Amino acid sequence: MKVRNIHQFIEGFQRFQSKYFAGEDPLYEQLNNGQNPTTLLIGCCDSRVDPALLLDCDPGDIFVVRNVANLVPPCNELGHQQGVSAAVQFAVEALNVQRIIVMGHEKCGGIRALMEGYTSARKIDFIGHWMKIVEPVKRQIKTQLAHCSVAEQNRACEMGAILMSLNNLRSFPWIAEREARGEIALHGWYFDMSHGALLAYSDRSDSFLPMVCPLGVPQQAA
Ligand SMILES: [Zn+2]
Repeated sequence: MKVRNIHQFIEGFQRFQSKYFAGEDPLYEQLNNGQNPTTLLIGCCDSRVDPALLLDCDPGDIFVVRNVANLVPPCNELGHQQGVSAAVQFAVEALNVQRIIVMGHEKCGGIRALMEGYTSARKIDFIGHWMKIVEPVKRQIKTQLAHCSVAEQNRACEMGAILMSLNNLRSFPWIAEREARGEIALHGWYFDMSHGALLAYSDRSDSFLPMVCPLGVPQQAA
């Protein structure tokens, strides 16, 4: 695996600079006047699943919130400082995004920790506390898929967590109202890392279906 040192990051910025700040009509000339992304994407912190890289986006395309296991907590005014809820509110109320994508992924370390019942040896267990958001999904899977392999259970939990986050998004009144008026659409996507494929949740089939098949597999009509 390629190990990057600090100089490679600096060279990386130089390539970014020549891509976006050179030429006749540099993108940042517009972006300096403000951002206008149409999409809020909630993704995982995992270094393998950078949403802008996966979706080949330019700066300004997507407003991104990343956290452990791409979770959205339910709307709760009484909680402590809530970075995810604040970012979601800003994207919806100030930027007027037209869609929200919750993008989960295979082999998620946060979900694996939850499923294995990981607890930190430290006195303050931030990971365990955060992952409690999807504890009901874990309980359901441990009961209903008790006969399945660990990998199958984890995959089911990764997908279940996406659906739970979509439901939690609907607990924010300003999202539920906009969705009811058809002004915002909510999507659940799943990056299948083993196969290099992208799946999307289908209400109609109540399952995740391939939206982009692995290379070499014919694309199916949606
Ligand atoms: Zn993850």
